[in-house]
Amino acid sequence: MDIPLITSNRINTPELAEEILEQGKADMVSMARPFLADAEFVKKAESGESSSINTCIACNQGCLDRVFKKQRATCLVNPRACYETELEYVKTQVPKKIVVIGLGPAGMACASIAAQRGHNVVVYEAEKLGGQLNLAVHIPGKKEFYETLRYFKNSFEKNNVIVNTGSRITAEELQQMNCDVVVIATGVKPRIPEIEGIRHSKVIIYKDVFGARPKIGNKVAIIGAGGIGFDVASLLLHDEYSSERWMHEWGIDAAYAGRGGLLINPEASVQQRKITLLQRKQGKMGKSLGKTTGWIHRLSLRKAGVEMLTGVDYRRIDDAGLHIVKDGEESVLDVDTVVICAGQLPENSLQQAMLDSDKQVYVIGGADEARELDAERAIRQGVELAAKI
Ligand SMILES: Cc1cc2nc3c(=O)[nH]c(=O)nc-3n(C[C@H](O)[C@H](O)[C@H](O)COP(=O)(O)OP(=O)(O)OC[C@H]3O[C@@H](n4cnc5c(N)ncnc54)[C@H](O)[C@@H]3O)c2cc1C
Ligand code: SF4
Repeated sequence: MDIPLITSNRINTPELAEEILEQGKADMVSMARPFLADAEFVKKAESGESSSINTCIACNQGCLDRVFKKQRATCLVNPRACYETELEYVKTQVPKKIVVIGLGPAGMACASIAAQRGHNVVVYEAEKLGGQLNLAVHIPGKKEFYETLRYFKNSFEKNNVIVNTGSRITAEELQQMNCDVVVIATGVKPRIPEIEGIRHSKVIIYKDVFGARPKIGNKVAIIGAGGIGFDVASLLLHDEYSSERWMHEWGIDAAYAGRGGLLINPEASVQQRKITLLQRKQGKMGKSLGKTTGWIHRLSLRKAGVEMLTGVDYRRIDDAGLHIVKDGEESVLDVDTVVICAGQLPENSLQQAMLDSDKQVYVIGGADEARELDAERAIRQGVELAAKI
């Protein structure tokens, strides 16, 4: 047949598009979200600079989630998308020396745009570039955040940002820095709820789960069902996760033997752990999740047998497990591990040290406001500040 075939969806690099065309899998590729993530996609691809493309990570947070709420679309990794006339990155006539503390999404975005505008930027990061995105990349379906880390690393090299990782800055060090502007982007610290037994050996904070996964028991309770609670639940279902497992779980036949590429009788996958996800609030769980993706997360966990309990009061944690009250009835969840995902607080201690400073001091990202924080807001705050310094 002579009907041209155009293919689409998750073709987000020039290399992948080229491969599809070269192998004759389609006559044309169609892209949409990649151009929100980087308006210069085609130009960079043509000039062989594909490593400097800001890659769409398929989060839907800035684009489709907004469109379905009748809001203006934009992009998590590129807040200028659809705001081109309001958010402009103009070359500065007065280059300043800017010090950025913290290289999570807020700090990376601010440093990158400030340097592109011609400022002299020096950044200090206690651990490694990326902040909490270094945790997010381990969640099934989120490894494309690696592309965001690659993009910022590349941008720093290109724009001569001086990067100091493994460098935790103290208040005294910051006060003595020779610069015009200080940007505090030190992120968040986990909120630890006041529950009797919170220091019990069964208890682990979400950020420590990633390194300790193989040691985590088979019966797990997760306190807090926000985005991170959902992510930790899907992370803990299996210690190994592969795209084959994902396809199997969703009934996709990669060999296209069945009609429509669907498995006729997909076997239910066996979960490694029994997980209970709990929240204090009554009502639907996962309300804060994205409009276009929240249902997938809820359905995946439900299909995997994750128990979801809302309207829960936490009484104590002891050798027997997690004691709760739900609908007036007390019970104990027999679990080996209790993971705390109960929100975050700003890590803004350096701000105090700069109260009497004669430098311009700004606080962005989670260090400024931890409530309802996500990478989208952190990046937007970073670039908005960088555009006006
Ligand atoms: C598992 C997980 C999954 C997530 N998934 C998503 C998602 O899909 N979408 C989304 O939008 N968001 C997601 N998030 C949330 C997102 O990662 C955070 O909202 C975002 O990273 C906050 O950015 P930030 O720059 O304010 O702070 P952070 O990312 O916390 O970065 C702060 C940085 O400052 C450094 N720092 C602190 N103090 C100092 C000091 N004194 N000196 C030097 N450096 C210092 C820290 O080491 C850290 O690297 C996820 C988070 C987690 C944990
Ligand atoms: S918001 Fe996310 S999915 Fe949408 S274009 Fe940007 S990176 Fe891609």
